[in-house]
Amino acid sequence: MKDTLKHRGMRNQLADILSAKGIHDQKVLAAIRTIPRHLFMDSSFEGHAYQDKAFPIAADQTISQPYTVAFQTELLEVKPNDRILEIGTGSGYQTAILLQLKAKVYTIERQLELFKKTNIFFKKMGYRPKKMIFGDGYKGLPEEAPFDSIIVTAGAPDVPKALMAQLKVGGRLVIPIGEEDQIMTLYIRKSGQEFEKKELGTFRFVPLLEDKN
Ligand code: SAH
Repeated sequence: MKDTLKHRGMRNQLADILSAKGIHDQKVLAAIRTIPRHLFMDSSFEGHAYQDKAFPIAADQTISQPYTVAFQTELLEVKPNDRILEIGTGSGYQTAILLQLKAKVYTIERQLELFKKTNIFFKKMGYRPKKMIFGDGYKGLPEEAPFDSIIVTAGAPDVPKALMAQLKVGGRLVIPIGEEDQIMTLYIRKSGQEFEKKELGTFRFVPLLEDKN
């Protein structure tokens, strides 16, 4: 597991591509330049790590496309020390980007195999989310709520009510909604009852699945 100058060069190119595709938050682009995406992937795909594409990871899941990661992250408007809930840890790449932006991250994964694998990987790399949980993200994490923002990295048929309830007033929830493909949806909590909703383009995610049992 190495990070070389060549990898760094490819990351810079990837950040330039994302910038050309419309990502303008310089802190997000700097995080893309920093986090070694190739180390989050199986070695058979490593050579492709800096293409702007999703790739398979364990348990039939995918590491999200870099553009999607950057787009969702930009929508969160992360500030240092923000408490962020992430649903769908997967490879941990999105988690690492949020940590690089100095957020306090609480992340939930429902596939045991991936949860274990990414847990070990984080320890090896020194990435430290506040909490990493094996469980069903549909329920959120009520004992740690409210959050400054919540990011869902799998496609949900509808917005889980629990997640809306766990958002601070002024907080942002970014969630792809839809079955076959998804509309990236941003909810901003305006008050106890009011949410502003913005729809921001079509994406394709693996599905957000409810409890296995
Ligand atoms: N951010 C990850 C995305 C992985 S794909 C990455 O870039 O690597 C989406 C992830 O959501 C998968 O790992 C999948 O197992 C997980 N997932 C699906 N339904 C879930 C649920 N209800 N709770 C928590 N995680 C879930």
